[in-house]
Amino acid sequence: MIKSISYLGLGTMGSGMASNLFKAGYELTVWNRSADKCKPFARKGARVADTPTDAVRDVDLVIYMLSNDEAVEELVFGAKGILGGIKEGQIAIDMSTVLPATSLQEQEAFAKYGVDFLDAPVFGSKQEAAEAKLWIMAAGNKASFEKVKPVLEHLGQTVHYFGKNGNATAMKLVGNLIVALELEALSEGLVLAQKAGLDLKTVMEVVKVADFRSPLLESNGQNILKRDFSTSFALKLMLKDASLIERFGTSLKSPIPALRVVEKNLASAVDLGFGKENASALIKALEKEASVEVKARAAA
Ligand code: NAP
Repeated sequence: MIKSISYLGLGTMGSGMASNLFKAGYELTVWNRSADKCKPFARKGARVADTPTDAVRDVDLVIYMLSNDEAVEELVFGAKGILGGIKEGQIAIDMSTVLPATSLQEQEAFAKYGVDFLDAPVFGSKQEAAEAKLWIMAAGNKASFEKVKPVLEHLGQTVHYFGKNGNATAMKLVGNLIVALELEALSEGLVLAQKAGLDLKTVMEVVKVADFRSPLLESNGQNILKRDFSTSFALKLMLKDASLIERFGTSLKSPIPALRVVEKNLASAVDLGFGKENASALIKALEKEASVEVKARAAA
């Protein structure tokens, strides 16, 4: 049974997820590159580690969730990295969005130390992370998956098992392909509606009920109309994911023409300086091209 957990990476997602593990009663150790983000955990009584090597000593389970493949590589393989402190019998889980090939490299490296590795990325954003309502996919050794499933159930509302390592990260890229295209569709649709002089509040009322409705279209659409681009999922991370999907799709010779268009628009929005805003700031690239700003009309 898992009793002690080390959680590394207290960003937008990780801070909510680690809090939920602490609330669930696990003995928690935390580590974050910028040590400030550990302070709220120290105040609650969690152990704060100075380095990843130190963080993973003598715990049953290691979980990490960082920005991208490069950050994960540094955390796992780097000086003072996780591999310096792990021991046979532990389990490690990477919940970041990375390439399936990176998950396989991680699995191979951990296996050399007798540590089982699971890739377990998530759907859902800042709010779902804070409320333990994520949708989680996991892949790797089945017995280890069964062992950590109760832990994952403290983080999410669903947990799906995907078989061999790399499959869960592959599913995450499949899902984010759909997310990217939905955001592009919403942005193009709202800019067209604005150009056509439609009342955007009524447009969103239709988007909310019609047969193409989705929670993602609804929440992002409402926030765009309020010009609220506060970050749940950063635009620069969406661009990072588009680039991963592009590499993954290309490696499998799977057609991704629409994704390439979205990737270009995401890059334009990042170039305009909106990379740290929410991914919905993608619309700002189209607004610039159209010379409009999509905004709800003030009440008469
Ligand atoms: P975030 O807020 O930007 O946090 C990133 C975390 O990674 C921070 O803890 C950061 O440390 C750490 N980090 C970055 N580079 C590092 C390095 N070289 N070495 C060590 N630590 C490093 O990102 P997030 O939104 O939580 O996303 C984390 C992962 O989850 C990403 O892979 C993302 O694609 C995925 N994801 C995000 C969402 C979402 O809605 N936000 C949803 C699903 C999946 P510092 O605090 O020191 O910068």
